[in-house]
Amino acid sequence: MSENDNNFGIIATSVPKDRSAFQALKKGLCRKCPNCGKGRIFRKYVTVNDECANCGEELSHIRADDIPPYFTITIVGHIVVPGVMWSEQAWSPSLLTHVAIWPALTLALTMAILPYVKGGVLSVLWAHRMFEDEKRFQPDKH
Ligand SMILES: [Zn+2]
Repeated sequence: MSENDNNFGIIATSVPKDRSAFQALKKGLCRKCPNCGKGRIFRKYVTVNDECANCGEELSHIRADDIPPYFTITIVGHIVVPGVMWSEQAWSPSLLTHVAIWPALTLALTMAILPYVKGGVLSVLWAHRMFEDEKRFQPDKH
């Protein structure tokens, strides 16, 4: 098999349509398809649909990996840690009260925020054509 037998030439000759990362991010943060903004991006909690039910855009090849949990931890940490410090300064609740409130709040916030963050991350990756299958990612050649 020579280098000319692969399908890179076919992909490289088709110029991909420009995609706005900001528009895709807005759709993704609403957990909607980054292409049409109508179909759902997840079929379960954070399980990505194979394709959009509305426009048919393939979604399963977009891999966010650890980025959504990283951003979610950062966001939740910036809410919970100041909350712990502020409540300690304001009321000085007992240690048992802290243990009862903050881990539960941390878990609840994490579970609530993660799908929105993952939707946003997947959409930005989609807009920049950063897919699992690197053969599909062909930068624009001008
Ligand atoms: Zn769609």
